[in-house]
Amino acid sequence: MSRIFATVRIVRQSPSASDHLLFAAGKWHSSRMSKKRYRLFSTHLKDYFGTRVHKISVDAGFGCPNRGGGRAQTGCLFCDPGGSGAVGIKRRLNLAAQIEAGKEVMSRKYKADKFLAYFQPFSNTYAPVDKLRALYDEVLEVPDVVGLTVGTRPDCVPGDVLDLLEEYNRRTYFWLELGLQSIHDSTLVWLRRGHDYATFLKAYREAKQRGLRVCVHVILGLPGESREDMLATASELAHLGVDGIKLHLLHVLKNTPLGDQYVAGEFETLGQEEYVGIVADVLERLSPDTLIHRLTGDGPRDLLVAPLWSLNKWEVLNAIDAELERRGSTQGCRAVLSDER
Ligand code: SF4
Repeated sequence: MSRIFATVRIVRQSPSASDHLLFAAGKWHSSRMSKKRYRLFSTHLKDYFGTRVHKISVDAGFGCPNRGGGRAQTGCLFCDPGGSGAVGIKRRLNLAAQIEAGKEVMSRKYKADKFLAYFQPFSNTYAPVDKLRALYDEVLEVPDVVGLTVGTRPDCVPGDVLDLLEEYNRRTYFWLELGLQSIHDSTLVWLRRGHDYATFLKAYREAKQRGLRVCVHVILGLPGESREDMLATASELAHLGVDGIKLHLLHVLKNTPLGDQYVAGEFETLGQEEYVGIVADVLERLSPDTLIHRLTGDGPRDLLVAPLWSLNKWEVLNAIDAELERRGSTQGCRAVLSDER
């Protein structure tokens, strides 16, 4: 199969209730012209809302069960003191002010006029339900915020939290982002993730039973993983039919246990050409319906130790496009899909 995601654009002002239902049923498809050979999340957002929509990351002060419940201890090998979160968050401001500051930047840089509030750093479901509700409601009250994205760990979404998220999924445009990184337990142990693949599967299935859109985070280039290991992760996520995926290049930051190991010469990071080839392989094996939220990692310039080529984000993205073009392939052209989806 070979198909490019190119269709006729239909402009709409806002998603209807039936759009929500169609998406939940897996029947809502992109209608906007896109020259990409993969299914870009940003294109989906523009189709869905009929205007430019950008995510604004916020820090609500959560801790992480993998950092001793707070923020002080180290957790995952790659986690920096900022909780593996975004650059540019004005952490000292309250949530509404963080969003307003982000709106100003996104409007200027990307001409965005609607926004998704993204609870990004640390584990954003790690609190009692009442507290979560108050925080999520606070951002949804900010003008022009049209939806919510919550990032967390697979072992941090108990039933009462998932029930709450189901409520938000009915009320607004909602995504749950789950950090997986790899389906291989030996890798997860090495990464000090503190959960295994079975834990992810349980959380994922319980979220899907409630109709949530789920975006899964994966890291490519983890030491000890072969290309086949990475492709096995991609094939498994195709089998599950995940709604969205973020592909991260393993990048090494200062002030992390991973950084210490890298400086001690314990592993090497991928080269750009190798990474581009692996991403193309992964895209070919994902479901053609999975939305691509991210295709590389771009650590903060002042904290990045390696690989420095990752700072040239647009060069990497252009190289991925060129590689798919050279191969004449598209997302999903090698996918093996299953009835479980
Ligand atoms: S789950 Fe996230 S916040 Fe917690 S230690 Fe790992 S990367 Fe850091």
